[in-house]
Amino acid sequence: MTRGGPLHAPDSRAARRQRRELREPKQSLDPWRPVAMAWEPELSRDRSWEPVQTVFLANRECPFHCTMCDLWKQTLDHPTPLGAIPAQIRVAQSALAPAPHIKLYNAGNFFDPLAIPPNDHTEILELTSDYRTVIVENHPRLCGRRCQEFCRSCDGRLEVALGLETVHPTVLASLDKQLTVDVFDRAVDDLLSANASVRAFVILQLPGLRDEAAVEWAVRSIEHAWARGVDCCSLIPARAGNGWMDQLLAAGLFEPPRIELLEATVDRILANRARSASPTPRLQVDLWDIEKLSSSTDQREEIIARLAHFNQHQAWPDA
Ligand code: SF4
Repeated sequence: MTRGGPLHAPDSRAARRQRRELREPKQSLDPWRPVAMAWEPELSRDRSWEPVQTVFLANRECPFHCTMCDLWKQTLDHPTPLGAIPAQIRVAQSALAPAPHIKLYNAGNFFDPLAIPPNDHTEILELTSDYRTVIVENHPRLCGRRCQEFCRSCDGRLEVALGLETVHPTVLASLDKQLTVDVFDRAVDDLLSANASVRAFVILQLPGLRDEAAVEWAVRSIEHAWARGVDCCSLIPARAGNGWMDQLLAAGLFEPPRIELLEATVDRILANRARSASPTPRLQVDLWDIEKLSSSTDQREEIIARLAHFNQHQAWPDA
């Protein structure tokens, strides 16, 4: 079931101003140190369970201001200084255990020149030349010439994570992401032709979709991405916490998914896979803050364990 129409006119300045007024103050950041870093295993492109270094980079805030996004909380209000991103990568590399893969996540778009200065690209390439995979995140509209050049310099080692969020046209428009499914598809084509691989973020239970409809559209979105050549989809539960989403929550227009809906989405994907003859792409369920999701059963710990098992093996433990 789709509830209601668009939540506001997309791309409306007044709506953006309204959302800004609902924000809490940002955290103060040092542009020469990463916001956070992590070392944890993930299923790699060659289907091995291997450690990944993740560097959460401090950089200029993303200019898109999507309605559901809370990543602005840990960003700078000014352009990132030249040299700061390589410095942050070096800090993380000296603090973390070695890993064959690295994620450079910047709460925005790696190919936004005010976030990641293009004059730092050469040094970033040098600092990451020993990794088998370098994973960055980027808006599908920013996959032009600068991105293509970087992809080619990585010689097949770059994976670009794009926020698809959903293929539901009305819900996608309501996010004010300035994205359509066609734009996403073209970005995937451009990245694949530049010898990059692609990951897609899909959000479960965005405002306007609930329960069965939320699962249905998450499955459709994941399968659309895979059909376009995306190698890995990350399934992310929608969450409150950015002011705007909390207001929708209070008005009964949004509810974070219960943990059973993540399980139901994976179940549906596995059932569809069993009927498909095509090769199996990756699905990773985002378990960050998973404890905060509610559950209507007393099985939540078991479900979390099953989802963690699925991430590694791409099948349920009892399969
Ligand atoms: S493009 Fe990504 S980082 Fe930027 S506001 Fe939208 S969801 Fe957040």
